[in-house]
Amino acid sequence: MNSLHIGIAGAGLAGRTLAWRLLRAGCRVSLFDSRPRGALDTASMTAAAMLSPLAELAVSDEAVFALGQRSMQLWPRWIAELAEGGGEPVYFRQEGTLVVAHAPDQASLAHFTRLLHHKLPDACRAQVHNLDAAGLAQREPALAGRFGGGLFLEGEGQLANDQWMAALAGEIDRLGGQWHEGQAVDRVEQGRIVCAGGAHAVDVAVDARGVGSKAQWPAGNPLRGVRGEVLRVECYGVTLLRPVRLMHPRYQLYVAPRPGHQFVVGATELESEDTGPVTLRSMLELGSALHSLHPAFGEARVLRLSAALRPALDDHRPAIVLRGGVWHINGLYRHGYLCAPALVDELAHKLLAADSQEDSHHDDDNES
Ligand SMILES: Cc1cc2nc3c(=O)[nH]c(=O)nc-3n(C[C@H](O)[C@H](O)[C@H](O)COP(=O)(O)OP(=O)(O)OC[C@H]3O[C@@H](n4cnc5c(N)ncnc54)[C@H](O)[C@@H]3O)c2cc1C
Repeated sequence: MNSLHIGIAGAGLAGRTLAWRLLRAGCRVSLFDSRPRGALDTASMTAAAMLSPLAELAVSDEAVFALGQRSMQLWPRWIAELAEGGGEPVYFRQEGTLVVAHAPDQASLAHFTRLLHHKLPDACRAQVHNLDAAGLAQREPALAGRFGGGLFLEGEGQLANDQWMAALAGEIDRLGGQWHEGQAVDRVEQGRIVCAGGAHAVDVAVDARGVGSKAQWPAGNPLRGVRGEVLRVECYGVTLLRPVRLMHPRYQLYVAPRPGHQFVVGATELESEDTGPVTLRSMLELGSALHSLHPAFGEARVLRLSAALRPALDDHRPAIVLRGGVWHINGLYRHGYLCAPALVDELAHKLLAADSQEDSHHDDDNES
């Protein structure tokens, strides 16, 4: 049993996953969040939760790619470990991703393919497969006859983020985590979490409040919110076995299948911190992309349109930083689910290693 008491501000993907790992390691954990655990308006609950190290490399870099590749190994293990607690199973698939384009948008697909080959490490090139129309139809029968071909990105996957977040909450309770639900954190300081009702003393404080900790980030490395919107539908007329990305000269959209004939269609990316409802324009873009993938989606029932802010740093890399005696995990941007296991694992090891050395020394602005 580890005697370390860790206070975590923010019970989104980062804070909640970290709390679970630390509880498993025997720590005492206090978790604080201004929202109830099932609130839908966070990035973590809005995300499509595509796990796409290859496809995302086109818009990210080798650091995110490496975190993603490592996380793809951890996800199945962690999901199995989570199930050991007896909670509901979490939907997770690793059947690869398809990338397709309509005839007028073939140039976008060709550019994406070149970019991928240019950025991918040699060892991973074999994960990219060019498909002709027959190969595409074989992989994804619902798309037979609809596209002249496409790309198959082997090893990519997706999970049901709402199930992951709910299962974590159950495990945190079972393992004795102290969840201060609906408690807004004013400040996170060395050795304490400060809420309106008073300060809570902890051995180590972690700030995982996403955009909620914007004020804690220095002007030289600012944190901002990047708005994203997704559409969730239910449709019995189409079966997809894996996520499909649709290339378009102005935006890239994807359709991720979920249990119960549901599909998550995402995602817009707007340089805005507006947290208001989804706009008509975004709804039309997401909806028309879905309909263009297969006409049977015309009869899909709209279940939810949601918007949230992705916490992003200027270099678009996630960061683990020790500043003023407080650990920060933030900047997960559009790769939170892709990178979370590797990042959380890294931070948990740092916290546990510091404890085992009884090391009270804190190097400020240590970044990784
Ligand atoms: C539309 C959209 C689509 C996405 N799709 C994908 C995808 O396909 N694949 C992928 O890998 N990633 C995706 N992401 C990104 C991913 O969702 C985020 O990177 C990740 O969820 C960020 O998690 P977080 O815990 O850092 O932040 P958040 O989810 O924002 O969680 C922060 C938590 O802190 C709490 N909080 C805030 N302020 C306070 C306060 N003052 N006091 C107490 N609590 C506070 C909040 O209530 C919240 O629970 C997507 C994001 C969006 C918005």
